[in-house]
Amino acid sequence: MLSNFSPEEIESNRKDLFSRTIWEDPTSQLAHRVKGNDLSRYFLLTDSEKKGIEETIRLNVSVTPYYLSLSDPFDPHCPIRRMIVPDSRESVFSAEESPDPLEEERLSPVRGLTHMYPGKVLLFSNHSCSVYCRHCMRGRKVSSPNERMAKEDLELAFDYIRSHQEIEDVVISGGDPLNLADSRIDWILGELSSIPHVKICRLGTRNPVTLPFRVTEELCKIIESHNNDSLSIFCNTQFNHPKECTQEAKAAVLRLLKAGVSVGNQSVLLKGINDDPEIMLSLHKKLLEMRVRAYYLYDPELIPGSRGFRTPLNKGLEIVEYMRGKIAGMGIPSFVNDLPGGGGKITLSPNWYLGYYPKTRQHAFRSALTGKVHYSFEPVDSEEESKYPILEESIWEKLNENNTSRL
Ligand code: SF4
Repeated sequence: MLSNFSPEEIESNRKDLFSRTIWEDPTSQLAHRVKGNDLSRYFLLTDSEKKGIEETIRLNVSVTPYYLSLSDPFDPHCPIRRMIVPDSRESVFSAEESPDPLEEERLSPVRGLTHMYPGKVLLFSNHSCSVYCRHCMRGRKVSSPNERMAKEDLELAFDYIRSHQEIEDVVISGGDPLNLADSRIDWILGELSSIPHVKICRLGTRNPVTLPFRVTEELCKIIESHNNDSLSIFCNTQFNHPKECTQEAKAAVLRLLKAGVSVGNQSVLLKGINDDPEIMLSLHKKLLEMRVRAYYLYDPELIPGSRGFRTPLNKGLEIVEYMRGKIAGMGIPSFVNDLPGGGGKITLSPNWYLGYYPKTRQHAFRSALTGKVHYSFEPVDSEEESKYPILEESIWEKLNENNTSRL
């Protein structure tokens, strides 16, 4: 049952929570996480949010005091709040949605391991996270104690990896692997290091965003001890909004970098949160200042109750088009669609290439910078001309005529 609190009480509840938490202690942050109905103590909830909390069909609610402190208690449009608090749209299951749109379970030969690409596997190391993001595409598993990965389950997963020589790259995700104890992380990385054909390990974690204090010096030392000639460890995190780019987050990233772990960002495109070219540009500028390189911008998955988050496909294209030329290329994410049904990821780009005109052996391109058509020549000895989309003469002439104005 949700209680009602006045704005003054909410402010006072927040102050009290923050003062009870030992701020830079990850254990204290986790112990003071706000869960379920207790959200009403820290947010002036709308009717839609109340319904969302009571009827959510997705993962549990949980937020660290640190991440809560980035949110607005009174503005339901606050982007951080939208990622913490469910609303009524989250309780509606549409026919086209699926709890497992990528069919990760069908492609799972042993518990907790998905083998979709020949040389790569995804290892689901644990079910828990510091904050349960409302848009999480693994809501079918994450936050559920039934999905606990016991040591024996992980051992079976390692046996599978060991017996498949083609696996060079292991993505550890969950849940959030950095929510495991240091000793378990040490053991997992040690197991991977001992498999000669595994060369790359990618840690998928949102802790730099939601609980940066979890990225402790001790943890970084453990990671560094396994980051060696036989295994290269990378970290991919998920900043979705400039408000998340705090000094604490930057310090966590720098600790990882010092351990030799390069940090990339995989944003999720979220309606009303970051589906705006200026917000995305600002986010990625801040990320570069934090030395985080852009990696992916995900088109959100068709998971149950996702109608509050999903954007038209064109939105992602517009955003990456807008960013081109305004930030270094390493700050522009690849817009990615993870194809439903286990089709794997594809990248989608704005249509910069207009086609090929064989008579002059010229390619025509649309420039992000000038907005005009620019041309380049195919080599004279090329044997690839038949592979290009041909520009008809009439279109070629039109392009030339229009080239004084922006397209
Ligand atoms: S941290 Fe990652 S796995 Fe955990 S709820 Fe958020 S998106 Fe899902």
